[in-house]
Amino acid sequence: MKFDLHCHSHYSDGTLSPAELVTRAHNMQVDVLALTDHDSVDGIHELMQCQTEQSRPLTIIPGTELSTRWRSFEIHIVGLNVDYQDAAFKKRLQDQAARRHERAVQIADKLAKAGIEDCLSQVQRLAGVGHITRAHFARVLVQRGIVSQPQQAFNRYLGKGKRAYVNSQWISIEEAVKWIHDAGGKAVVAHPGHYDMKTKWLRRLLTDFCAAGGDGMEVCHPGLSSDRQRLMAELANKYGLQGSVGSDFHFPGRWTELGRVGRFPENLEPVWKDWTLSVA
Ligand code: AMP
Ligand code: MN
Ligand code: MN
Ligand code: MN
Repeated sequence: MKFDLHCHSHYSDGTLSPAELVTRAHNMQVDVLALTDHDSVDGIHELMQCQTEQSRPLTIIPGTELSTRWRSFEIHIVGLNVDYQDAAFKKRLQDQAARRHERAVQIADKLAKAGIEDCLSQVQRLAGVGHITRAHFARVLVQRGIVSQPQQAFNRYLGKGKRAYVNSQWISIEEAVKWIHDAGGKAVVAHPGHYDMKTKWLRRLLTDFCAAGGDGMEVCHPGLSSDRQRLMAELANKYGLQGSVGSDFHFPGRWTELGRVGRFPENLEPVWKDWTLSVA
């Protein structure tokens, strides 16, 4: 079975609608798909609805990707198999959305001070039904011709310590794990190979994550060398974490594709071990 347990729709910074994601998942022969929009479960219902109209089976796992602060790092924790209709969980996500909005206003202010005026309304239009992320700001800076690539927008303005960087007041990893567990889900460290930290710090992060009761970590994600991929599997084993896989798909492009996650390591317990996967 082909699993992809991390992707985005236009309810956060992905560009595809839930309907387009369903079609793409079918084309890419994905069997189990988790939608994990940033701090949101808004697209889940629509995704499930779209799937019910299809003849090819696809199991949808309700998920989200929570933004947290751990020491000076922004760490993403994926929640998988959450009850996306749970009222308390939805309220907590709304609080995160409010933090996101506040931060967007502050980013726009900082950009204005750098001579880039009136970004917020353009960013809001671009985000549409979705929550605003820095990826939207990056796209606006590309549209205005201020930078040529989104990556450049992060390097010059939006990345940690740059001119328009805002030190966000995200929740702690302990809170994220609690929120996910309270909603009946599993908490998984997203793309551990992408944080700009030495292995020593990654071990500290995993120690704290385990102490908080975390369940798993992604061991297959794009952009990992085979050495790093081996290291992630080793770490998962060492810390007793289950393994997860995710493409972190945002839009069709050269580097990421829905369902393209690499091979799951042998001798590691998968996060889906105890799930009943009724293929709908
Ligand atoms: P936010 O959650 O608002 O901080 O936005 C983070 C999102 O921006 C990530 O999920 C990525 O989609 C995107 N992103 C983060 N860093 C970069 C980068 N260096 N280059 C391009 N996109 C990035
Ligand atoms: Mn994103
Ligand atoms: Mn992420
Ligand atoms: Mn993601």
